[in-house]
Amino acid sequence: MAKKSVKEQKAKAIPAPPASSEAVRKSMQGNKRRDTKPELIVRQMLREMGYPGYRLDWKKAPGHPDIAYPGRKTCVFVMGCFWHDHEGCKYASKPRTHSDYWNEKFRRNKERDARVRAELEELGWTVIDIWECELKKDCIDQTRARLEREISYAFVNL
Ligand SMILES: [Zn+2]
Repeated sequence: MAKKSVKEQKAKAIPAPPASSEAVRKSMQGNKRRDTKPELIVRQMLREMGYPGYRLDWKKAPGHPDIAYPGRKTCVFVMGCFWHDHEGCKYASKPRTHSDYWNEKFRRNKERDARVRAELEELGWTVIDIWECELKKDCIDQTRARLEREISYAFVNL
């Protein structure tokens, strides 16, 4: 009896089969929190500005910041416009179908974002947000300048 139940548990633990197509694979990757293209761009910017040594997905701080300098209590969140429902942004268009589901999902995401920021600030962290759309060609220079300004300010004012 017990043996059978172990066997059943094992059967349940079998990993999902690999994505059946390139499109599915890409979409699954898109949902992955780490190493997204926007995040790679921001990390490269930081290295070029002379701020290497960041930690990724820092689990000891609320919200597990994507990019963190724990010693400096400074972190950067690279925010997808769609998932974080960037207000007034053309990349944050809501799906028309299943709107109840999406509205609830976005509402919760925003609520969590706000809570995480409040918790980090309470603990003395400087939080820098970079939106995905701010990394598009036409505004990336401006974004780089802002990032440099904000991070240098955070590092000086420790
Ligand atoms: Zn946006």
